[in-house]
Amino acid sequence: MKVLKFGGTSVANAQNILLVEKIVRKESSENRVVVVVSALSGVTDGLISAAESASAKNENYSETIKTLEEKHLEFVKNLLPITEQSSWLSFVKKNFNDIEDICNGIYVLGEFTPRIKDKITAYGEFLSSNIIAAKLKSDGLDCVWLDSRNYIKTNSNFTDAKVNFETTNAALQTYFKENKQQITLAPGFIASDVDGNITTLGRGGSDFTASIIAAAVNAKELQIWTDVSGMMTADPRLVSNAKIIHKISYQEAMELSHFGAKVIYPPTIQPAIESGIPIEVKNTFNPQAPGTYIESSPPETRGKIRGISGSSN
Ligand code: ADP
Ligand code: ASP
Ligand code: MG
Repeated sequence: MKVLKFGGTSVANAQNILLVEKIVRKESSENRVVVVVSALSGVTDGLISAAESASAKNENYSETIKTLEEKHLEFVKNLLPITEQSSWLSFVKKNFNDIEDICNGIYVLGEFTPRIKDKITAYGEFLSSNIIAAKLKSDGLDCVWLDSRNYIKTNSNFTDAKVNFETTNAALQTYFKENKQQITLAPGFIASDVDGNITTLGRGGSDFTASIIAAAVNAKELQIWTDVSGMMTADPRLVSNAKIIHKISYQEAMELSHFGAKVIYPPTIQPAIESGIPIEVKNTFNPQAPGTYIESSPPETRGKIRGISGSSN
């Protein structure tokens, strides 16, 4: 089994989903795969911004919600065949009605708690994953949607919940023993606590979801598909001649990400280390590029410095 995670830019629009589908088709022809997806690019920020406006008694929140709804309706229209659109358009509308109801509540109460923040941000991955799974099924792939919230169990530390690996691993292992679809598609980032409240794993947490699943099922490999061709010697937005690091140890990758290399969410590496699962960082928009291979003992290189990362301010 392999686990493939696609980030926000990789699933930003219908055109990009065709690239994702091509990668998934190829990988799933050789292995059973779990595909983990983020929310469409910008959606998590948008949902937070709507709720924050509502709590500040700024009526603009309705506009923000409308824009996000429009984005998802377009996504469905551009992605799915006309005969399948109406039920998914209703699905999107229903979910945005719920989002609007929650924001109306926030507006009235003037209160936006971490628990509500998780409830609202969870819609991003919930929507993207359901619609993308529908697309893969519609194209004849053997794909099933898995609700991560029922399998990834955490404490109640909303917005940055800690995973209970014992219950999570047991639940995932049982699931994958009983269900044998070639492709399982799951939302990243979202989980739930013992009372069934929705929790999230921290911003950027979809990488972590993928790694948790990879470790639980003892996957052959974890692939992080993103918008750059791997982990680089520096943040490419700050350093224009940053180079791809082709091979790196878990330890070094963890240090770089911990100190600011946003390409991997830092907690992601631990479950992979413990299970000895290699992580590949690859570019959805240039799948031929070799990417970065993270493993326990990469070959020695000439330089002593693998990369530089930093945090602003
Ligand atoms: P995704 O949405 O796929 O999870 P992210 O935006 O979280 O993608 O991470 C990818 C981004 O991380 C890149 O577009 C890049 O700008 C940024 N980044 C920062 N530091 C590094 C680094 N050292 N190597 C590669 N990318 C980096
Ligand atoms: N959508 C979430 C975020 O923007 C999680 C992720 O993309 O990894 O933080
Ligand atoms: Mg990310």
